[in-house]
Amino acid sequence: METKKCPECGGKLVEDVKEDIEFLQGGNMMIDVNMILTCNRRCGYWEELEQSEITGE
Ligand SMILES: [Zn+2]
Repeated sequence: METKKCPECGGKLVEDVKEDIEFLQGGNMMIDVNMILTCNRRCGYWEELEQSEITGE
């Protein structure tokens, strides 16, 4: 798997998960878990990982 670099700071992008919690009417909630790439230098940059890019190990 190729290593992507952060366009902001040149750090390494690593896989992470991002949870979006949505509260629905009636007290239900929906949790959306997305795979993302995030900067390991914690500069705040992240991008969504396309499903087709998730290939396992
Ligand atoms: Zn960065």
